[in-house]
Amino acid sequence: MSEHHQTEQGEASSLRTPIVAVLGHVDHGKTSLLDQIRGSAVSEGEAGAITQHIGSTAVPLDVISGIAGDLVDPDDFDLPGLLFIDTPGHHSFSTLRSRGGALADIAILVVDVNDGFQPQTHEAVDILKRTSTPFVVAANKIDTVPGWNPEEGRPSKLAIEAQSDRVQSDLNENLYEIIGQLSDEDFSADMYWRVQNFQSNIGVVPVSAETGEGIPDLLTVLMGLSQRYMKEEMAIDVDGPAAGTVLEVTDTQGFGATIDAVIYDGTIREDDQIVVGGQAGPIVTDVRALLQPRPLSEIRSDDEFEKVDEVVAAQGVKVAAPDLDDAMAGAPVRVVRDRPIEEVVAEVKAELEDIQVSTEEEGVTVKADTLGSLEALASTLEEAEIPIMSAEVGDVAPRDVRMAETADTEKHQAILGFNVDVLDDARELAEQESVRLFEHDVIYRLIEQYEEHVEEIERAQQ
Ligand code: GDP
Repeated sequence: MSEHHQTEQGEASSLRTPIVAVLGHVDHGKTSLLDQIRGSAVSEGEAGAITQHIGSTAVPLDVISGIAGDLVDPDDFDLPGLLFIDTPGHHSFSTLRSRGGALADIAILVVDVNDGFQPQTHEAVDILKRTSTPFVVAANKIDTVPGWNPEEGRPSKLAIEAQSDRVQSDLNENLYEIIGQLSDEDFSADMYWRVQNFQSNIGVVPVSAETGEGIPDLLTVLMGLSQRYMKEEMAIDVDGPAAGTVLEVTDTQGFGATIDAVIYDGTIREDDQIVVGGQAGPIVTDVRALLQPRPLSEIRSDDEFEKVDEVVAAQGVKVAAPDLDDAMAGAPVRVVRDRPIEEVVAEVKAELEDIQVSTEEEGVTVKADTLGSLEALASTLEEAEIPIMSAEVGDVAPRDVRMAETADTEKHQAILGFNVDVLDDARELAEQESVRLFEHDVIYRLIEQYEEHVEEIERAQQ
């Protein structure tokens, strides 16, 4: 299936699919929302309505238009559709980078209308601000607003000013509260949030991930945002060598270590030489196979994937190649094709260095599962004025404990592990050596735990 879209600029030029990420507090409905969007696309009924890639789902323009009805006229858009990253959460958002920026072009910030802004919502807004990512707020779970009656009209009527009955005013109150929690400085322009208005970086769209209310409006706003803000970045040379980001390093039967990657620029082909960011620096290798999930109906027992010849941005793909054991989630992938290999290696190296975390002589030891999450953790630690002695990607191993043990002060004899495992022998050693281990998969919780520990030490010293 081709996702190319020809423009006046010539045959090889194309607008790629905007990449969309979903963020928000736990249990506010990120996963349900993605399921609902996929479900709406499938029930649009067309064969191939959505394409399930590795780690992402593509919804083409005609399907979006089918869902959104009058709201999206395909003639008004020259984008091929939208590509949704399947793993919700700002952890994956900050992990997934492209050339120094966020991999996702736009984001959906999910906020439960009953619960309002919660710690992870604020954390997500901070990340979106830091990366200058335009986003739309999905004010979710409107079906739970007391008295809500889904029969009352099309979702677009949910526009806040439109109605004055009790349900609407209940809803309005909740939404106003959410808007109130977004400070003015979060946005570069005035806040317009009427559904059919694309005059700002921010819209608040009432939705229900449960019933599907508001999904057409949400897709409409996403298309509007993409069309308005993304166009220059969307122009790709479809024949150009691919650039992408590693989502995950996986073991695939028959292939050994493989990488799941999102390609955001150019094309990757079966016979390409590639450079991938690894623990010890750039890995140079040759593509052995490009794999995509088979349609569900075709899956045979051990044959979940099919080989494809090439993958054009923006898409997710599983890449099989030798020597990928050492590849890092969050690291760059580059196709070499027609370029001097040194140039590409230098490019990958520069990008890895760009993400490197600066460390000081005295401070805590930090481990995280990906480059992007390590960077996010380090910047939050910096804001909290907690110095870092050492920061690395990977599980907590005995040598990390030995490192932490060399810190001069008790409060720095600590390891902060974000989304990583602690190896058994490392845990034993830490106990022997009085090195404190902190583990969490939410950054602010991890830091909170550590700060409580520091307070305890300080109290004990008084
Ligand atoms: P996540 O942690 O943000 O991915 O949240 P989930 O998608 O797992 O949703 C958390 C819970 O809220 C689940 O029990 C969902 O069924 C429920 N939920 C999500 N969206 C809605 C909604 O729009 N309406 C209602 N009533 N429940 C919802």
